[in-house]
Amino acid sequence: MLKLDRIEYDYPQASIQANFELEEGNALALMGPSGCGKTTTLDLIAGFLAPHRGEMCFNGQNLLALKPDARPLSYLFQQHNLFPHLSLWQNIGIGVRPSLKLSREEKQQIDQCLASVGLRGFGDRRPDQLSGGQQQRVGLARGLIRSLLCNKPLLLLDEPFSALDQSLRTEIIALINRLRIEHRLTLIISTHQIDDAKALNAQVYRFDN
Ligand code: ADP
Ligand code: MG
Repeated sequence: MLKLDRIEYDYPQASIQANFELEEGNALALMGPSGCGKTTTLDLIAGFLAPHRGEMCFNGQNLLALKPDARPLSYLFQQHNLFPHLSLWQNIGIGVRPSLKLSREEKQQIDQCLASVGLRGFGDRRPDQLSGGQQQRVGLARGLIRSLLCNKPLLLLDEPFSALDQSLRTEIIALINRLRIEHRLTLIISTHQIDDAKALNAQVYRFDN
């Protein structure tokens, strides 16, 4: 279980509070208007921000005691997920092994992952040769593969479908749902669309400020 117990973070002009529990293998959608605290909450779970008050644990382990890279999670940022000078293949591989020294099996899994987000054969391209929606799918592929191959069972996705049209959205949501169930991933997604939450069978956490 992931538990955020009265977590609070104070910006000079705003204070963000989050308080929820999520069973392992389930999904939760963070919802609310722009500026309500969705990204801040994901940054707090990932360890890029430290809360001023509150506790946070995952399967009984105190997350606040762990540095970001030691936390059992994979995080797709709202923006700036790809390295512009690396190919797509390298962009995904670096999420698995920063040295890019990958086994044959890992390479195959990257190819499969690219194919599963509709980018078969795109591995040698650079991000600037892709549309916004295609770039978003590469980021998603990296988030997913890092969860699966690096034992990072908590997957954080910050508005992952904002650049996707409806049919792709439906397809990618089905893919995420399938992987979540098969691999018992615990998923937190931020979104503006209640339909995304429903399609992911996600419980909803709504920020009321
Ligand atoms: P959301 O992702 O829901 O759009 P954010 O978590 O990005 O919201 O922001 C929550 C609130 O915190 C907003 O009011 C925003 O202006 C404020 N905020 C975010 N980042 C900073 C920052 N670095 N410095 C000061 N205030 C910030
Ligand atoms: Mg945000």
